[in-house]
Amino acid sequence: MNIILFGPPGAGKGTQSKYLVNKLKAFQISTGDLLREEIKKNSDIGKIIINDMTDGKFISDDIVNKLIEKLVFDPQKKNKLIFDGYPRSLSQAKNLEFLLKNSNQSIDLILFLNVDKETILKRLEKRKILENRSDDNSETIVRRYEKYMETTKPVLNYYSKNPNFQEIDGGLEIEEITRKIDTFINV
Ligand code: AMP
Repeated sequence: MNIILFGPPGAGKGTQSKYLVNKLKAFQISTGDLLREEIKKNSDIGKIIINDMTDGKFISDDIVNKLIEKLVFDPQKKNKLIFDGYPRSLSQAKNLEFLLKNSNQSIDLILFLNVDKETILKRLEKRKILENRSDDNSETIVRRYEKYMETTKPVLNYYSKNPNFQEIDGGLEIEEITRKIDTFINV
């Protein structure tokens, strides 16, 4: 199964991705993690993106699309892809469709973790202390939420028409969300 986890920053996409990876013996594709890895390696990409990442801005489609491309085409990962934080714009959604089509795959499930703004801001403030992420500071937290509303929300309107789209209340406890996700997975 190829699954997209969709929702604002702090919705719990990472947590549920890890659950799905374990359950389905699948592979998480977190563009945020891939980008943080580039920064850690101090690669050419890392040097280009470090400031925008810290400011909570989006990284260009060119860079992000390239990072996921080889993972989508990796035969070992075929039909075992869990997308976390990608796509985040309509053009990324179109790119993903193109890549999947060209590798004879499709999206089997789109899980939208719906969480209200107040809960998100509270969760990210908490994560700021727990994970010490450079982009989890009070200013960028709000900016990232606004960016989500502006650029990522339109992807939601697009995906909500897909027959494989499922909405889950992301404000629930982790275990409760996992239980609901289980009902959409036929293994
Ligand atoms: P995340 O770990 O998913 O919260 O992503 C952290 C940061 O990485 C975001 O605030 C963006 O700066 C960048 N990023 C992650 N995924 C994408 C994406 N699909 N498109 C553009 N920027 C991204």
